[in-house]
Amino acid sequence: MRFFYGTYLLRGTVKYLGMLGIEMNIDINLVSQDAKKTIPADVLKIPFGTVFTDHMFSMRYADDRWCDAEIHEYRPLSLSPAALCLHYAQGIFEGMKAYRRGETVLLFRPEKNFERFNESAKRMVMPEVDSGFALETLKKLLKIERAWVPDVLGSSLYIRPTMIATESKLGVRPSSEYLYYIILSPVGPYFEAGFSPVKIYVSDKYVRAAKGGTGSAKASGNYAASLLAGTDATKVGYTQVLWLDAHERKWLEEIGAANVFVKFDDEVATPSLTGTILSGITRDSVLTLLNEEGMKATERNISIQEVLEGIKSGKVLEIFASGTAAIISPIGHLWYKGQEYCVGTGDIGNTTRWLYNTLTGIQSGQIENSHGWVVSID
Ligand SMILES: *Cc1c(COP(=O)(O)O)cnc(C)c1O
Repeated sequence: MRFFYGTYLLRGTVKYLGMLGIEMNIDINLVSQDAKKTIPADVLKIPFGTVFTDHMFSMRYADDRWCDAEIHEYRPLSLSPAALCLHYAQGIFEGMKAYRRGETVLLFRPEKNFERFNESAKRMVMPEVDSGFALETLKKLLKIERAWVPDVLGSSLYIRPTMIATESKLGVRPSSEYLYYIILSPVGPYFEAGFSPVKIYVSDKYVRAAKGGTGSAKASGNYAASLLAGTDATKVGYTQVLWLDAHERKWLEEIGAANVFVKFDDEVATPSLTGTILSGITRDSVLTLLNEEGMKATERNISIQEVLEGIKSGKVLEIFASGTAAIISPIGHLWYKGQEYCVGTGDIGNTTRWLYNTLTGIQSGQIENSHGWVVSID
């Protein structure tokens, strides 16, 4: 038995054999029954990312190896005020969701998230995690927190794997110590008022990422850098920013923290992955689904001029964003250089709606998954 905040915890150790044959142990220290939080009765009332489950997973990196893997009580971190992540943003994260289908908990392409996590780690000069071990620990944690996975349609348990540089040192150089952890937060459907179109502000002033920068990594600093453009958008009543390229302010990049798609007549196009754009797992799934339906799905450069002219001529039929948070967001209006453009009728297009229904159906296990995209826990 171990003692934390006056709470007795149930202890255990689970062994895991990593890909390289290296054995790793996960210590399990559970919160006692009477110290557990009350699970909110109505997930629809929880503002995104404000409520966390009883447990979290964490492990440390020191002396060139990962150690102290443990599932333990959700608790504050203890960090030196000089920890490198706090000053120079050497930090990365992932965003994924667990869905409930009866008693079964489902994950959507989770191995992709850990692959991308390791890509982000490489870009930020951080150590990689064994993706098999990372998935194993996530499954273990989800089994423990199963009761927290909401069963209201469209709701889920949001999963946030995170890595931060923890070495106490003010020199600008890669940390020698890191903390990796996973926290879980029950979230309602993204669209509270039902699936509905959003208004997007095209920023021709600020940019998200430049070639050679960190745009293709899910790195903390990218999101701090994106906040100011959002304030311009909200001033004119718009919710999200559509980013243009840093060099010419001409080519579409992303919408907020989601990928963008434009449907022109018989073609559905999305910007190519050129290093400034995040390689979305939802984006990849959308491309696969469209191809299977026999639709023309392309990855290419799309200029803002082509989109605005297409809106005027009627060639642009739909615009939508894709990402784990909202899955698919229909775009009803664009604001560009002081002028508002209405996309199609301003309503949800057929392709947008079909993709939303198909993807959410697959993720919740209601639509047969022929791609091996859905992983069930147990
Ligand atoms: C997370 C993210 C996306 C969407 O990726 P998914 O894997 O589909 O959730 C797109 N753009 C940015 C900048 C992101 O951070």
